[in-house]
Amino acid sequence: MPSREDQLAANLAAVRERVAKACAAAGRSADEVTVIAVTKTFPASDVRLLAGLGVTDVAENRDQEASEKAAECRDLPLTWHFVGQLQTNKARSVVSYSDVVHSIDRERLVTALSGAAVRADRSIRCLVQVALDDAEGRGGIRSDGMPALADAIASAPGLTLAGVMAVAPLGGDPAAAFARLAEIAAALRTAHPEAKMISAGMSGDMEEAIACGATHVRVGTALLGGRRAIVR
Ligand SMILES: *Cc1c(COP(=O)(O)O)cnc(C)c1O
Repeated sequence: MPSREDQLAANLAAVRERVAKACAAAGRSADEVTVIAVTKTFPASDVRLLAGLGVTDVAENRDQEASEKAAECRDLPLTWHFVGQLQTNKARSVVSYSDVVHSIDRERLVTALSGAAVRADRSIRCLVQVALDDAEGRGGIRSDGMPALADAIASAPGLTLAGVMAVAPLGGDPAAAFARLAEIAAALRTAHPEAKMISAGMSGDMEEAIACGATHVRVGTALLGGRRAIVR
């Protein structure tokens, strides 16, 4: 049996190869795309191994699990991303360890994160999560609500507007969804030129996302293996 470190090294090499190929196919340079390792359900020891292999960015989607893991890995030079649906009462905890929050979908969350960031003397990069199928409820704001939410983030103390995030709708064509996201991101940049991040693409659709300009891909399964179903 290969060691966990060998397994992760092989997975990481394969993911980097996929990213490099997708960038080449899109006429982009491979260093335009950052791989974020989505470590949810996996132990802090995996985060430590990935950091040793050169991973710089990790993401989590549940506050309690994330805060414990970030605390165990405090000595590592990692950027922590929060990518899960977020309740306002978790804002204080999330700003204590997150550098980037991808899942901002309503103004109440902006108010809560801003207040918490100011009190903690932290600066948090924020992405607006867009619902690409314009369906309410699964996380993400409808694209027509984007400008107002972006303005709210940009003017909130303690927060900076960094870009957009989306998940391709289940069962749809990811290429079409990410093309739509690219248009939304371009519109955002005309109002907020500094908001350059496009967080899109996961294990199954990173190529399509990179073809549409993703700057950050969020990769779980392809790096760490399959997750057990978690009962909440
Ligand atoms: C779990 C998760 C991912 C990673 O998904 P994989 O298919 O395992 O790569 C990406 N983004 C978000 C928001 C997630 O919750």
